[in-house]
Amino acid sequence: MTTIRTRRTQSRQAPKPVRVEVATLAKLIEQEISKKLLELLERKHLYQTVAIDLTAVNNLIHTATESDIKIPPPAAGLLMHLTSRVALQKALREYVEDLLDRDWQFESTGAEPHRAHIKKQGNFPVTLPTLKIHCNKCDSILPPHNPGYPGQSEPISIVLEEWKQSVQLVLLPYHCQSCKLEPLVFVVKRTGLKLQLVGRSQFESFDVPKFIPKEEREHYSDAMIAFQAGRVLAGLFFLRTMIEQYMRRVLNAKGRMTGDELGDAYAKLLDDEFPKRFISLKGIYSQVSEKLHAADADVNQFTASREDIVRHFELLKTLPLKSIVAENQSPVALSPLLSQSASQIQDVSTPDTSSKRL
Ligand SMILES: [Zn+2]
Repeated sequence: MTTIRTRRTQSRQAPKPVRVEVATLAKLIEQEISKKLLELLERKHLYQTVAIDLTAVNNLIHTATESDIKIPPPAAGLLMHLTSRVALQKALREYVEDLLDRDWQFESTGAEPHRAHIKKQGNFPVTLPTLKIHCNKCDSILPPHNPGYPGQSEPISIVLEEWKQSVQLVLLPYHCQSCKLEPLVFVVKRTGLKLQLVGRSQFESFDVPKFIPKEEREHYSDAMIAFQAGRVLAGLFFLRTMIEQYMRRVLNAKGRMTGDELGDAYAKLLDDEFPKRFISLKGIYSQVSEKLHAADADVNQFTASREDIVRHFELLKTLPLKSIVAENQSPVALSPLLSQSASQIQDVSTPDTSSKRL
């Protein structure tokens, strides 16, 4: 017992000095900016933002008892006193504030390695991350995109300084390493510690699942585009349009029909084995309609309904509709097409106007 007590006493009496170099702090901030930029460009959509988190930097400063930073007078004279630690940490905080207050100089190391050595005085250099994103120019799956491109001239950064808080706009070209065709250029707006994606030279692309019927792919695509641009209500509207148009097409529906009527008639076309535990298209239609009537731009609803729709069509691949209403067919005389594959069902053309309505 005595031994343990002695060890504890010794540990309290001689705390281990923590030396925090300014270069370490700068590196930590740069890594955080680079990490948040990667999140913004890989996973966020137009007009969304990310914020730089300084928790790790502040925690490190809080532990500092030694540093290579020059403490300005008069605190410098108190270096050997009890206040020295406070003065040291204050100086480190001021250093970080000054660093963040400068223009951030985003540097490409991929295409033009020499650019990493160009450091404008007073700027805070940040090395750009490599991204894994869709490419509009080729079919590769999430090919790596390097910052910059061969022959790139000076990086373009515009600083608007007339306002309360300085705003920096940066053009960031990224080059697909799979096809090496025209680079994709992002426009990022920096306001203090916030980074916002405000532009891109090529449309944001995404995968439309291959089992979505070709006739309704455009509505699905429009829903995704609207959603990714932050127009959630428009996204919900396109999802509902997609369900409605799909049901009308396979039912050969004419004239006015409510979502419930369409949903009930459509349910009769489903294979008997089609799992009942999943929400029906009628159910999805009803949930989305409710949000539209209330003008509720519910992000969770969009995400859930989109997933439900995708799951429905994925199941149709293995359990195709048992019958469809073809041209000139009355809904009461549905001919069973048990052997029909999902792809055949998806190829049903728009019927003529002579067909009876449901
Ligand atoms: Zn490509």
